[in-house]
Amino acid sequence: MKRSLSQSRKNYYVGVDVGGTKIQASLITGFGSVLANYRCETPRNGSVCNSSVETTLNAVEESIRILLHDQNQTLDEIAGIGIAVPGVVQQESGLVVVTPNMNLSGVELGQMMKDRLGVPVAIGNDCNLGTLGECWLGSGRNTSSCVGIFVGTGIGAGIVFDNRVLSGAGQAAGEIGHIISQIPCENWRKNITATKHKQGIKSPKNSLPELSRCGCGNYGCFETFASRTAMERFIREAVDHGAKSVIAELNGGSLDIIKSGAIAKALKVNDKVVTSIVRYAAQVIGYACLTVRHLIDPEVIVLGGGVIEACQKFMMPIIDAVVANDQLPSASGKRRILVSSLGDNAVVLGAVALVRSLNGSNPLRKTHRIIPKYPQLHFMAENVIHIADEPYAEDFFILSDGMIQPRLKLPKKNIHGFRLKDIQTAANGGVDLIIFGSPNAGEIALSGKCHDYLFRRGIDYRILPLDEAVHLYNTVAVRRAAVWHFA
Ligand SMILES: [Zn+2]
Repeated sequence: MKRSLSQSRKNYYVGVDVGGTKIQASLITGFGSVLANYRCETPRNGSVCNSSVETTLNAVEESIRILLHDQNQTLDEIAGIGIAVPGVVQQESGLVVVTPNMNLSGVELGQMMKDRLGVPVAIGNDCNLGTLGECWLGSGRNTSSCVGIFVGTGIGAGIVFDNRVLSGAGQAAGEIGHIISQIPCENWRKNITATKHKQGIKSPKNSLPELSRCGCGNYGCFETFASRTAMERFIREAVDHGAKSVIAELNGGSLDIIKSGAIAKALKVNDKVVTSIVRYAAQVIGYACLTVRHLIDPEVIVLGGGVIEACQKFMMPIIDAVVANDQLPSASGKRRILVSSLGDNAVVLGAVALVRSLNGSNPLRKTHRIIPKYPQLHFMAENVIHIADEPYAEDFFILSDGMIQPRLKLPKKNIHGFRLKDIQTAANGGVDLIIFGSPNAGEIALSGKCHDYLFRRGIDYRILPLDEAVHLYNTVAVRRAAVWHFA
């Protein structure tokens, strides 16, 4: 089957995610299709902070040049480059103000990379750009206000309001992980309960964990209760106190760094220690969502990051329950809490959205939104679909960017079904609607797992007979993908 997509010159962009452990550079079209990724490790001299700025800049430049070389592209064909860094960034000037876990503090990254590459360069904070990416093509698409909360070793957030990143007076907005969630004030009640205790009156039980110091220096920060680092600390504490858990076994015998994948596996086997700690973290995240809603009331809150990616099935219903139980009477309106649709590509797509918006074509605005060129389909007798005079009678996908890709036949026992893998392939790259076309449409229902995947990302779907599916595909005016199944 052919892959055809016409591209004019200068309609390509590069998005780069510079992290403490890896650098990802991606070649991306103006309408947000990720054509290729190149990943390498961030150079370190013991730690990233010890290696020279020059070494890091060289690595970023090299990752862009290798990506383009591998794809037979040159910098002449690139309209702009967006770069994300984990720290406080002055978007307008391209200055990195501070990167606590990297060596780029005080570096004029935007200007330096522009001098090296001769292409417009925009830089931004990684959580802000991840949210911008989700707002362009992911779970926040078609909204103008969205907050992204990313749960990993720490907890970061980005705020997009009126189609723009809200960066604050000192470019430090969105530091949700450092909102003080347990107030470390002197407790006046203690003195009173102490007196009561003397008088034989029992004091109420305090079930909150002890305040621990956050990496930022403060006590009681949100991320000290709900990040992966916090979960690790709680798990170690429980195990040290003699609680039985399979987590060490699932994590390669050690509890030094507990991977999100190991936590997810422990949830699957119903490990008591891990389930109770992750349930607690999910509740804390639920309350953080409530705080966000009460403060800025965005249309969508998108949750992402390693912990959510791995444990969403367990965590999302708990988070939903906390939010649903909000006692503050709220204004009416559609608001949702969704899971990231773009995963690892959210940040690089956001970086491209940023450089496009600084070039005057913000893709989040309807007027600048470019819809991929979708093929026109023709339904023929005997269940054949024609695309540009070529007949298709075997299973295939039309991806979110309009490209055609064959689909492997299903195993016999599930011959008329669609697998989660099909759903993920179709949803990849950001869609509003997935059309499933099959001569057996009447007999097909998506499994709970597949339905949940789409529901959690706000993606609509229809299962239709081939002729109706072809008609809908040709006439609907949204970003779409299709899965074609022939009997
Ligand atoms: Zn903190």
